[in-house]
Amino acid sequence: MTRTPQVVVIGGGQSGLAAGYHLRRLGVDFVVLDAQSTPGGAWQHTWDSLHLFSPAAFSSLPGWLMPPQPGEEYPDAGHVVAYLRDYEKRYELPVERPVRVSGVHREGALLRVETDSGAWHARAVISATGTWWRPFLPAVPGRGDFGGQQLHTVEYRRPQDFAGRRVVVVGGGNSGAQIAADLAYDAQLTWATQRPPRFLADDIDGRALFDAATARRRALDEGRTDTGGVASLGDIVAVPPVREARDRGLLKAVPMFSRLAPGGIEWADGTRADADAIIWCTGFRPALSYLAPLGLRVRRGHITTQGTRSADEPRVRRGHITTQGTRSADEPRLHLLGYGDWTGPASATLIGVGRPAREVAREIAELLRG
Ligand code: FAD
Repeated sequence: MTRTPQVVVIGGGQSGLAAGYHLRRLGVDFVVLDAQSTPGGAWQHTWDSLHLFSPAAFSSLPGWLMPPQPGEEYPDAGHVVAYLRDYEKRYELPVERPVRVSGVHREGALLRVETDSGAWHARAVISATGTWWRPFLPAVPGRGDFGGQQLHTVEYRRPQDFAGRRVVVVGGGNSGAQIAADLAYDAQLTWATQRPPRFLADDIDGRALFDAATARRRALDEGRTDTGGVASLGDIVAVPPVREARDRGLLKAVPMFSRLAPGGIEWADGTRADADAIIWCTGFRPALSYLAPLGLRVRRGHITTQGTRSADEPRVRRGHITTQGTRSADEPRLHLLGYGDWTGPASATLIGVGRPAREVAREIAELLRG
C-alpha cells in the first residue's frame, strides 16, 4: 500500500465507506484509515436492543441496498455491522485498520496525515470520523458530588445491568427515549427532559425524516424559507419498543432537574429524588481534534464549511448563520463528511450520507485534475 495515495479518508464507518464507493467509481486512488480493528464504525458499540428507525431498504449506502433482516422490519445494530463489513468487501474498499490519525498538517502541495503507524501524504483528505467518540455531558451543578454511577449513552448496554435500581435517564431525543423504554420494565425509572418529549406520529419513521431533510435542502438551495427539516416533525421516532412503553404509561417524562446532590437529583423548587445511576443521553460532538494543526475557523461549534454551489455558501436564516457543505472554508483540500446537517441534510444517517459523499468525491476528482 502506497503511503502517498491521492486521497486519505479518515474513518471507516458508513461515511468513509460511502466516500470510498464514489472515489472508486471516479478512479481516484485513495486509502481509508480507521481506528477500529473491525468494520462497522460506531454501530459495533451501541446498546444491545438498538434497532434502526427505518426499514433496511431505507437505510442503504450508495450502490447496494441493505438486505432485509429476517423477522425484523427495523434491522438491529448487528445487521448494520454485517452490512458495512460486506459493503466494504463487495466494493474492495482499501481500509487500513486499526490506524488512528493523530494530526493533519500542511506540507507544501500535500497534506500530511500523522497516525499511530506512521505518516501518509495526500493531495486531499476527507474527514469522516463521526461523533460517537466524543460524548457530550452538560454542565449541571453538583455533577461531581453525585455518589452513584454516571454514564453516557455510549456506555449503556442492557437493562439487566440496572435491574431494581433507581435510574435517571436524561435527554428527550431518540437515544433518551429508547434507553428509557429499555429500562422501563427492570429499573425504577425517572426520565428527565428539558422540554416535554415530542413524539413523531406513530406511522412516521426514518423515511419521513429523510424526506423532510431532502425538502429542506431543496428549499435552501432554491433560496426559499427554511422548512425546519427534521426538527419540524418532532424529536422522537416512535419505534415499536418506545411506542409500547409509552402506551403502557411507562414513559412519563419529568422536567429537567437543576442540580445533582450526593444521593440523587434536585429541582429548583427543592423537590428531590434519590438515584443510584444517571444515564446522560445528551448527545455528541464531532471527533475532530486531529484537525487542530490546520488552525481552521470554528463557528457555532462547527468547523466552517462551504459547498460547491453559491447557494451553499454560508447564509443567514431566521437570524442564525448556517453553513451547509463539506469543504473546509480555510483548507480547500479538506472535506468533512457525515457529521450532521451542517455537512449536508441527514448526512449523519445511512441513507443520507450518499449524496454528500458523491459531491465530495466529484469535487475532489476535479481538484486533482486541476
Ligand atoms: P462512525 O460510525 O462513528 O464511524 C467513524 C469511524 O471513524 C469509526 O470507525 C471510528 O473509529 C473512526 N475514527 C474516529 N476517529 C478516528 C481517528 N482519529 N483516526 C482514525 N479513525 C477514526 N442513522 C440511521 O440511518 N438510522 C438509524 O436508525 C440511526 N440510529 C442511530 C441511533 C443512535 C443511538 C445513534 C448515536 C446514531 C444513529 N444513527 C442512525 C446515526 C448514524 O447512522 C450514526 O451516527 C453513524 O454511526 C455515523 O457514521 P459515521 O461513519 O459518520 O461515523
